[in-house]
Amino acid sequence: MTTGYVFDDIYTRHTWPGHPENAKRLAAIMNYLAEQALLPQLTPISPRPATRDELLRGHHPRHLDLVQETSEHGGGMLDADTYTNEYSYQAALMAAGGVIELTGAVLDGRVDNGFALVRPPGHHALPTRAMGFCLFGNIALAARAARLDHGLERVAIVDFDVHHGNGTQAILDEDPTVFFVSSHQYPFYPGSGAISDIGRGEARGTKINLPLAPFIGDEGFRQLYSQVVFPALRHFAPDLLLVSAGFDAHWDDPLANMALSLSGYHWLSRQLIDLAGQICGGRIVFVLEGGYNLQVLAPGVGNVFRALLGTAEADDPLGPSPWSEPDVSGLLAELKKIHQH
Ligand code: ZN
Repeated sequence: MTTGYVFDDIYTRHTWPGHPENAKRLAAIMNYLAEQALLPQLTPISPRPATRDELLRGHHPRHLDLVQETSEHGGGMLDADTYTNEYSYQAALMAAGGVIELTGAVLDGRVDNGFALVRPPGHHALPTRAMGFCLFGNIALAARAARLDHGLERVAIVDFDVHHGNGTQAILDEDPTVFFVSSHQYPFYPGSGAISDIGRGEARGTKINLPLAPFIGDEGFRQLYSQVVFPALRHFAPDLLLVSAGFDAHWDDPLANMALSLSGYHWLSRQLIDLAGQICGGRIVFVLEGGYNLQVLAPGVGNVFRALLGTAEADDPLGPSPWSEPDVSGLLAELKKIHQH
């Protein structure tokens, strides 16, 4: 397997002291990949800034202008928890362009699969405004580029960040060519992602939301993904699988209350990679979203690379969740009623 990755120093210049979504996250990841001798096994793909036309496929021009102007004037807050500094506009252009480039590299066959190590993250960015640490909708824009520039008919996005991928869904909610699945703590930030939220208009039924009670972990994820998500993805038969990879559903993440372990994350990543092998020629691209405990984030990302490279072993220094898991059979039954495949 040839596994690509995207990284650029500009992703670490977008930062804000004391904010959980800061440059130390990527530094920890890159240090880990070097220490574990994973980096030499990977193929770097150079990012580039997204073009205005690429950004307009998901965003209103006024939003693009506001991010640019705020950043170019030294930065500031765009909502209660979303900052910009002087580098943020360039970093955000390179984050969106980096995901688009890596996706293109997989579709062109330059690499078999990959992981875009980009910041700022993207899955909360709405068509008209920044939100939840996110400036531009990196993964939604890459899905659009795969469709419009590479001629794919169908793309699927799986979002296993602990927060609902509301920005991704908002951009794609009426687009029947992009299947979207989000598993997230619920009710929780950002408040959306109810089970009944399944896409609009022609796209009705192409979005699956898995609203999860606190402390659901490895076993609940195994049941929900095996019985609901994987059959739905097989049925949709995408040409490409994109993954919004957030590591904040780990039991030791400081911002949320779910109970996945690093081994559980590794299982989920391997299943998604195997599924991509079966349904879309192995074309899968992971995209970094959240994850705020650096002891989780670095090995979590490392384990995805191990899975992409075809290694079975996971690094799980924190071990299993210390809490018992709630039963998910009620949620499973409800989901199966709505999404039958
Ligand atoms: Zn998150």
